Formats: sequence, C-alpha cells, structure tokens
Amino acid sequence: MKDINVLVINCGSSSLKFQLINSKTEKVIAKGICERIGIEGSQMAYTPAGGEKIEKIFPMKDHTQAIKLVLDALTDAEHGVVKNLDEIGAVGHRIVHGGEKFATSTIITEDVMAAIEECNDLAPLHNPANLIGIRACKELMPSTPMVAVFDTAFHQTMPEEAYLYGLPYHYYEDYKVRRYGFHGTSHSYVSHRAAELLGQNYEDLKIIVCHLGNGASVSAVKHGKCVDTSMGLTPLEGLIMGTRCGDIDPAIIEFLCNKEGKDVHQILTVLNKESGVYGLSGDFSSDFRDLEKAYHEGEAFAIRTMHTFAYRVAKYIGAYTAAMNGVDAICFTAGVGENGPLVRTMITSYLGYLGIALDEEENVKRGVENIISTPDSRTKVLVIPTNEELAIARETVALV
Ligand code: AMP
Repeated sequence: MKDINVLVINCGSSSLKFQLINSKTEKVIAKGICERIGIEGSQMAYTPAGGEKIEKIFPMKDHTQAIKLVLDALTDAEHGVVKNLDEIGAVGHRIVHGGEKFATSTIITEDVMAAIEECNDLAPLHNPANLIGIRACKELMPSTPMVAVFDTAFHQTMPEEAYLYGLPYHYYEDYKVRRYGFHGTSHSYVSHRAAELLGQNYEDLKIIVCHLGNGASVSAVKHGKCVDTSMGLTPLEGLIMGTRCGDIDPAIIEFLCNKEGKDVHQILTVLNKESGVYGLSGDFSSDFRDLEKAYHEGEAFAIRTMHTFAYRVAKYIGAYTAAMNGVDAICFTAGVGENGPLVRTMITSYLGYLGIALDEEENVKRGVENIISTPDSRTKVLVIPTNEELAIARETVALV
C-alpha cells in the first residue's frame, strides 16, 4: 500500500470542501471548508486531526485564493499537519458530470480538462466550479499529480434500456439527452462495503443502495455493475428530496407556468429549491430531524410528507428488484439513510414480499455501520455511512 497524503477537493460555485487523507492509514489528517468565496464575508473552517476547529473570516476573491489559504493552513507552523507541499502526494478532485466521456476516474491532463469543459452544459452550476478548482490547484501545485473522480462514472455501466428516455432518439444522438445518475462515488463505496460486511463476493450480489441525504438517489447494482439509478440527465429526477421534487409529470411545468404567470426558469427554481419534503410539508423544513420531531408530535403535514417520501423510495426498490430479478441486500446511506430509523422502518414496511424483517434494536442506532435486518431476514438490510472523500482518495492513489 502506497503511503502518500492525498488532498481531496470538492469545489462548489462559492464553496470548497477539502480533506487531507493518508493513503496507508486511510485516516483524515485535516479537513475543512471555505464558504462564500467571491462574496463578502468569506470564511474558512479548518480542523487538524485531534485538534480544535479553527474558524476565520478571510476575504477570498476567488477559488485560487481559497486553495492558497487551504494550503497555507495545511503547512502552517502552528496548526499545520505537513511541513511543506511536497508532503501532499496527489490531489483528487470531485467532478460532478463526466457525461459519456468518463466511465472511470482519470489522471487530469489538458485534454481531460477540455473534455470536462465539454460536459459543462450538462451541469452548468457544478462543472465550471470543479474546473476552477482544478486550475487553482494546478497553479499552486504544478508538479503534483491530480485525478478527476466523477459523480456520474459508476453509472456508465447502465444498459441502454435503463438510460434512454422515451424521447425522439435524435435528442440522444444530437444532445446526449439520457439518464446519467449522480452520487456514483457513494453508490460504489456503499455497495462494495456491503459485500465486505456480508462476507460475500461483490460480483455475486444484487444490491440496492438508497443514498438518502438532502439530495437523494437509489441505484441497482447487479453483479458488481450499476444497472439503473433514479437521478437522470440532472439530479432533479427520481426520489422526493430535501427541496427537489423528483419524478413529476413533465406537463406540470407548462400548467404551472400558466397558472402562476411564471416562466420555465422560475418554475424550475421552484422544482429545485422549493419542492421536495420542504414544499410538501408546507415550507416547514427540508431537514428530516425537524420532520421526524413533528411526525412524533402528530402534525398532519409531517405525517403526509414522511409517508410520501418513504412510499417513493419503496416504489424504486420494487422497480429495481424487478430490474435485477431479485435483490440480496438493501443499503441505507447519507444523512437521512444513516440517521433516520423512522424513515428506514417506513420504507421497509412496504417490503414484506422480500422477506425482510428489521431488527428494531439495531435499527434505532444512528450513524453506525450495521446490519439492521434479523439473521433470518431473506433480504439483508444494512446501514453504511458513506465516505465519498475516502473513495476519492482511494481512486486517486490507485491512479498516481
Ligand atoms: P446529507 O445531504 O447526506 O448531508 O444529509 C443531510 C440531511 O440528513 C439533513 O438535511 C437531515 O435531513 C438529515 N439528517 C442528518 N442528521 C440526522 C438525524 N440525526 N436524524 C434524522 N435526519 C438527519
């Protein structure tokens, strides 16, 4: 096993999350986040392993400046964790959209950067920010190898019948309009980990992964390959999410434009930012901690929201069981999947036909890696905290 420190970078349009991970111990050496980059009041939070979190307000006019501050913090004489930048052996960048060009992670070259740029129109909010992060790192660490790890790559094994929409075929040929799927690093990490926990070969299993966070998606992983996933061309499709609507009748868009006197762009903002469990609960909250509490207090808006959310997940599990002609294990991950016993109970209550029995004593535990079905449950149910940063670090080390 190589022994290098990998800097994992996840760049958003105005934020930058980072972790420095040692490849041998797989321990996080330091982590943090820069927020409000390019906006007044930008700040950085930095936590060295075993140390106190340090929060500072810094002006950060762009991502290059943010990355410079991150590197300064990592090498700082007092709070730093490495002596100099030579102790950072590689950088792994999370890239949201790799289109059909990238089915695996790849070493970043000028050609790769150009190919990522060609995918910009598929993820106009995310890919340009990801590229800015790559350029900023290249400027400051020109000789350090860098790897791009794509959110879409794991899903590139989907067969045609799973990724095509019922649209004129030339839209696929001309514009590559198809299902891509997201959260691929998480679906890959969790499904591999499930096989390890069950002590079985990854290639022998049929696994459904429910990544239930603020963004949420389900995937079907058959014999080691993703065969379907719920997000589509964009992350708006599929499950009901924190604020995204998930699957709806596309004709609703024109209907609402007419009723509300809004244009398509405005309605899409509603579908992305004001819908999901937030909208369903009557703008109460997108946070399942609030919803769970209100549910237990008997609030009708919380009861309908939780049931509608859980029902949609259960429907996808049914569909993917059919797609794979069976399922051996169902995994819950991400904020809600890892920490929401109520949601897990509600979803699995639809799955009696899979011979599922939950071990309620295990299910009430939050945020721990765990098999939560009883030993005689025909289909296994697992909670596996996702670790996208570690997965990115592993992919990076494997390539450099
Ligand atoms: P993520 O996008 O994976 O970070 O998930 C964020 C979401 O997880 C939050 O918006 C909450 O809805 C949910 N969450 C986090 N902690 C808990 C918890 N202890 N109980 C229930 N839901 C939680």
